[in-house]
Amino acid sequence: MTALIRIDRQWTPPGQGDRSRPIRFCSRCGHPSEEPAGGMGIKRRVCRSCGMGLLLACGREALPGEAGAFAIVTFDLAISAVSKAGERVLGKEAELSGSHLLDVLTSPLGDDQLARHVSHAAQRETEPVVMPVRLQGKRSRKTGTMAARIATCGPPRAALVVVEPSEFGRR
Ligand SMILES: [Zn+2]
Repeated sequence: MTALIRIDRQWTPPGQGDRSRPIRFCSRCGHPSEEPAGGMGIKRRVCRSCGMGLLLACGREALPGEAGAFAIVTFDLAISAVSKAGERVLGKEAELSGSHLLDVLTSPLGDDQLARHVSHAAQRETEPVVMPVRLQGKRSRKTGTMAARIATCGPPRAALVVVEPSEFGRR
């Protein structure tokens, strides 16, 4: 399943640097920010690239990348943000903000499993988990089964849910 998610290798060069060091990314456009946390200064919170999203940090192996379709989800499964690319798959952020994740996504492996992984990732540092998901409702027929990678991001701590269409779902 892991191979179904495209990782932006530009930001995760194999065998270089400290791969465990978190990287910041924009909650709106997904633009990665290597800006150092800066000892004395106040940490920059707003994305320099789009001027709209807030910068969050995640593990390098979880970075969604600039075209990443993702949502930020709280521990109680409320959607708090949807990336620009994510809107094309999941729906408009303005409409989804505050929605329950399970009203938007479902998993063939069971909604309880999806809920558990997302809730865990939103509460503590976890290894990214990849699982199949489908949109709720009629639109799922078009998108089919997608791969979702669930990881931890923050602050404030939340789950980073990256979705990507997968070929196997179109049957
Ligand atoms: Zn941005």
